[in-house]
Amino acid sequence: MNQVNLSFSASLDNVNFSRSVLVGFLININPDINFINELKTVVSEAVTNSIIHGYNEDSSMLVYMNIKYDLEYVYLEIIDYGIGIEDVFKAKEPLFSTKLEEERAGLGFTIMEVFTDEMIVESKVNEGTKLYFKKRYKEN
Ligand code: ATP
Ligand code: MG
Repeated sequence: MNQVNLSFSASLDNVNFSRSVLVGFLININPDINFINELKTVVSEAVTNSIIHGYNEDSSMLVYMNIKYDLEYVYLEIIDYGIGIEDVFKAKEPLFSTKLEEERAGLGFTIMEVFTDEMIVESKVNEGTKLYFKKRYKEN
């Protein structure tokens, strides 16, 4: 097991940074291009959600990203201590968004689910949101 634990300000400037950390850390496992592109998309969607929805872009707050891998899987956590999600089941439905008027498509969760082998969403109103992902990188 190898891991990295990171926190950064809830600013959209840091979305690219979080993707770069993922790529840099996972260089060690020599992932194929498809795997890394999918997981980069997952990180972008999750971190963007924490910043925009969780924290309403309040950059005095922190987003937490934990990445680890074993011989088979990459495990990823994205955590915020923001507003939380009232109805997780509904939030996960394709095209559901509480910010449709701001050009949000409501597809983030759908994309994250498709690009991972496991996605767990834990959220409490006024406490925050934790996303857990697992994605297999080892062939067969
Ligand atoms: P898109 O991701 O397509 O730009 P979106 O962000 O609205 O649009 P999803 O990422 O699927 O769509 O999220 C669905 C909804 O779940 C959001 O509109 C928001 O209400 C809620 N949500 C998601 N992540 C969080 C979070 N970290 N904190 C609070 N609410 C969240
Ligand atoms: Mg989203």
